[in-house]
Amino acid sequence: MQANRSRDTQPEILVRRLLHARGLRYRVDVRPVPSLRRRADIVFTRKHIAVFIDGCFWHGCPEHGTRQFKPNITYWTDKIARNVCRDLETVNHLQEEGWTVLRYWEHVRPEEVVASIEAEYRRRS
Ligand SMILES: [Zn+2]
Repeated sequence: MQANRSRDTQPEILVRRLLHARGLRYRVDVRPVPSLRRRADIVFTRKHIAVFIDGCFWHGCPEHGTRQFKPNITYWTDKIARNVCRDLETVNHLQEEGWTVLRYWEHVRPEEVVASIEAEYRRRS
């Protein structure tokens, strides 16, 4: 199983729809910089903002992280620990390239996520 987000999860779709309704235009599921192997969920290329909506389970949300998959808990926690490491590398890499990285847990209400993204977007106008 690929240890990363599946494309087009429900929270992501809602966030995109709301951003679009707010008049913000973005690219979806692209690499913000060529040197980064990962894609971001939502990218504002000219503003240099990359947004990640992190799945609670795969990215180790402190509230919902390891409650699922009680059997094989070590296996899953190792996998998740690696994901968390990779997430930090991603953030560092993008910040070194001058990007702003916005990360949200999938459990955060889409309206809150969008308000936060929009504030950063307007700040960079
Ligand atoms: Zn969560």
